Amino acid sequence: MSATTMHTDPDPFAEPSPARHAEGSSRAGPKDLPSVDGLLRLPGASALLAEHGHTLVAGEARGLLDALRAKALAGVLDAGSLGAESLQQALSRRVERRLAPRMRQVINLTGTVLHTNLGRAVLADAAVSHLVAMMAGPNNLEYDLDTGRRGDRDALVEEMLCALTGAQAATVVNNNAAAVLLTIAALARGREVIVSRGELVEIGGAFRMPDVMEAAGATLVEVGTTNRTHPHDYERAIGDRTALLMKVHTSNYAIQGFTSSVDEARLAEIAHARGLPLASDLGAGSLVDLGAYGLPREPTPQEKLAAGCDVVSFSGDKLLGGPQAGLIVGTREAIGRIRAFPMKRALRVSKLPLAALEATLALYLRPERLARDLPTLRMLVRPIDEIRAQAQALRPLLANAVAPRFSVEPVELQGQIGSGSLPVDRLASAGLAIAPVERKGAGRALDALAAALRALPRPVIGRIADDRLLLDLRCLEDAGPLQAQCDELGRILRDK
Ligand SMILES: *Cc1c(COP(=O)(O)O)cnc(C)c1O
Repeated sequence: MSATTMHTDPDPFAEPSPARHAEGSSRAGPKDLPSVDGLLRLPGASALLAEHGHTLVAGEARGLLDALRAKALAGVLDAGSLGAESLQQALSRRVERRLAPRMRQVINLTGTVLHTNLGRAVLADAAVSHLVAMMAGPNNLEYDLDTGRRGDRDALVEEMLCALTGAQAATVVNNNAAAVLLTIAALARGREVIVSRGELVEIGGAFRMPDVMEAAGATLVEVGTTNRTHPHDYERAIGDRTALLMKVHTSNYAIQGFTSSVDEARLAEIAHARGLPLASDLGAGSLVDLGAYGLPREPTPQEKLAAGCDVVSFSGDKLLGGPQAGLIVGTREAIGRIRAFPMKRALRVSKLPLAALEATLALYLRPERLARDLPTLRMLVRPIDEIRAQAQALRPLLANAVAPRFSVEPVELQGQIGSGSLPVDRLASAGLAIAPVERKGAGRALDALAAALRALPRPVIGRIADDRLLLDLRCLEDAGPLQAQCDELGRILRDK
């Protein structure tokens, strides 16, 4: 407890003064502080020194003393906090906090399976173990074990990507934004790229198709209108400076009503008749037909290649369910130019995602097992009855933790795939709604509840809607970590 909360003097105008007595506590001044050496000589501090070494512990000791000095100068330092026990504990807490990773596992109860702010796809066990095994020692990232010569990192996944998509060649970069940038730069730098006005997407913040064109050094030529683009719009726009025709999947919005667009097959004919390549930015790009799993369909790279696209790019951590990466598949000639372009070196993927990607792609070789082995797909197809039953089972424990200020009810919810995949489709889901019992101050109570959930050792992220905090349980494959934190949640709420 801090010195200020100990201060119980009823006179609101009383100035806190050093060494004044309040309920048995007294104020300490700067001269009462120990030196850094004095602090480090305390028995508890020597244990910390033995474990963590001098640099970290002495640094935190200085930080602690600075903080205490500031309080002392403000006249609010309680003398009790200068006792050996208090000092040791404060130092130990500071060291612990400094070492605690900033990146932490959270529990995603937002109802959005691929949540960009929460790291998108959760890796499959096979990907995690391959990643860990490969990172723990040297590996053949760019070394050909057959010939003993320098190899190419793309070769680790190229064969598999080609087998899965029917492409002639494939390469991998940092993310799909990089894949699009590189594709445009390599195929159309200094020349023109034709894109429909209905497809000039913005994918969150800085990634906007016109800006990407500019960054890649290409000139965007917009054709058609927002709702309708026809084959002759493309045909008329093709000129001497045209280098590329491009289709962009409108992954985070839908244009409905009086619409028309030109599909890849038709566009490929138009492009190829003029000797131009056609590129397609798919965004999510599922490698399997989601319709077969009872989910809304999303275009696949294999069907875009079959339709005649020369290059198709898609994300590794959206529907593919792997690590952040940008996958580029296509013809030998187009991929060859992309790979040879100098920017490729700056955008290349590191060994970490590459290991995870290889293991994730391997899961697609056994499609019958995919809905079990790939967490993204597993969560997307999780039966609603199972989610409802889980909500019922969790309810008493959670209700107990948030009582008496909140009540907990099972609810039917609408989740989403996320990451700009299938923006208008909702996933029927279920979960728990936590509502304040008192209507007065309900907004503040909900904010406090959301903050308490975030303050848990493994933070729980829900969403607030209609004066309730909603916990969508679709992504809660293992309720254990949530159950284990219910007591702690109750404690945090009581202390607030
Ligand atoms: C998501 C998306 C991107 C960007 O992909 P990242 O992997 O996030 O870099 C680009 N284009 C489209 C159409 C997308 O949906």
